[in-house]
Amino acid sequence: MENLVSLKYLDSYEYEKVRKSVQELFADLHIEQIIKPKMKVLIKVCLPYSSAPDQAITTHPAIVRGVVDVLSEFGAKCILADSPYDKYTTSHMEKVYINTGMLEVANFTKCKLNYNLKTTTIDLPNGVETKSLTLLDIVNDVDIIINLAKVKIDKRLGYLGATSNLYGLVPAEMKTLILNRLDTLKDYYNYLIDIVSALSDKLVLNIADAVVALEAGESQRMLSCLSISKNVFSLDAVMLDILGLNLNESIVKVASDRGLVDVDNPYSIEEGESVEQYRVENFAVYDYKLTQPINKNRFKQRQYFNSCQQRPVIDANKCKGCTICSEICPTNAIMMKYDKSGELYAEIDYKKCIFCNRCHTGCPYSIVELKTPMGYKKLTKSISKYNKEKQS
Ligand code: SF4
Ligand code: SF4
Repeated sequence: MENLVSLKYLDSYEYEKVRKSVQELFADLHIEQIIKPKMKVLIKVCLPYSSAPDQAITTHPAIVRGVVDVLSEFGAKCILADSPYDKYTTSHMEKVYINTGMLEVANFTKCKLNYNLKTTTIDLPNGVETKSLTLLDIVNDVDIIINLAKVKIDKRLGYLGATSNLYGLVPAEMKTLILNRLDTLKDYYNYLIDIVSALSDKLVLNIADAVVALEAGESQRMLSCLSISKNVFSLDAVMLDILGLNLNESIVKVASDRGLVDVDNPYSIEEGESVEQYRVENFAVYDYKLTQPINKNRFKQRQYFNSCQQRPVIDANKCKGCTICSEICPTNAIMMKYDKSGELYAEIDYKKCIFCNRCHTGCPYSIVELKTPMGYKKLTKSISKYNKEKQS
């Protein structure tokens, strides 16, 4: 992957300025060699919540509009897509598109908004954290993907930027479940890198909106930076350097260990006419408010709550061995085994299970039951006891 990163100084979301910057960034990376007329382009915007643009949580609509307009000049057909954390339904997506300004972008540019709520499962035999990924089905309907991220600090996961934006291609209901299943931050990074690998044929470009970024505590910070790269890890490396974060403790190191970027030399910078504005040092901030990302113990704590979750249970004696559940399981968590009398039955590996309940709804014999583990019952019992004691 090419590690060239181009940076532009952009001190507002004023549309004409944005459009000019996008045109220059695209020219730096010779986008004309990638985009062909009538090409279907998925713009992976960052819409984790239904929040207004001035909250700096989502990709700013002026940037989205600028990117769509410039792509349209090349004859591309754009569709905006993301899956928020809470819900992925038509009515909720309508609300998200209105509140985040994406509907307005669609009205200005005539691009489409994604309402395809189907999911697709991709086998990843060489995945490190997962051997199978469930993503939004829209990834199958497009020729290329452009990753349009928002830079921010998350109180649990630390720096969120270009690579983490791709996590939005995981359907809403599965996002938290997958995070709960992971033991460490490194597992999370490897999961993100598995997504990048699964999309490697289509993911051609990454853009980071750090004109206004979000610091810890959700305060906003003007970084005046719009940047672009074909290599998602190089783009993150530049942003991490700007924010003063250690690359060796970041996703860039994990990607480097997997041969996708070199952590000691993760990017080269495109130098244009105004060299001053193209250097990382010119954007660097030394007092950016950071949080410590979640540590191993907190991941474990989350895992404990995960262990309290309702889960699918297969009674081996009742199972008909039809294999349907093992075929529809998105994480290959169900293995088919033979019992002593040579009968086939299904068994769930809970380390891989993400509690999507597909096996429960998909079993034609209603063998897969949903059960609540003892841990959860104990927990709710002790909470109600505590509440009663408090009231008396
Ligand atoms: S709930 Fe069933 S289908 Fe879903 S991941 Fe777990 S075992 Fe697989
Ligand atoms: S779908 Fe039902 S019957 Fe078929 S293997 Fe799975 S649990 Fe057994």
